[in-house]
Amino acid sequence: MDESSTAVGIDVFNEEQILQITWEDGETSRYPLYGLRKNCPCVMCRGGHENMQNFQPQAFFLQNPPRMNIKSLQAVGNHALQITWVDGHNSGMYRWETLRWLDPENHK
Ligand SMILES: [Zn+2]
Repeated sequence: MDESSTAVGIDVFNEEQILQITWEDGETSRYPLYGLRKNCPCVMCRGGHENMQNFQPQAFFLQNPPRMNIKSLQAVGNHALQITWVDGHNSGMYRWETLRWLDPENHK
């Protein structure tokens, strides 16, 4: 698998509202949780099957966003990360490639 989309470390900082992923190539991505939830890849959040690849990286840069805590994380095979949010929503399977692409640093 590509080093740039292989996670070697994942940390949730609900206090700071950040999910941090360290990649095998040595890079670190930090995702504001509100933006991560706005980019939930499930059909419902994306607004239909025809919109599955329509992400909104600009959501990471919202000032004073609502708090969105993560309850738990689970790997889905070796291709994706399932995030369970405190409100129970967990149908989004975030592909590692998508997460790497979503890195807020790529969208400034
Ligand atoms: Zn969703």
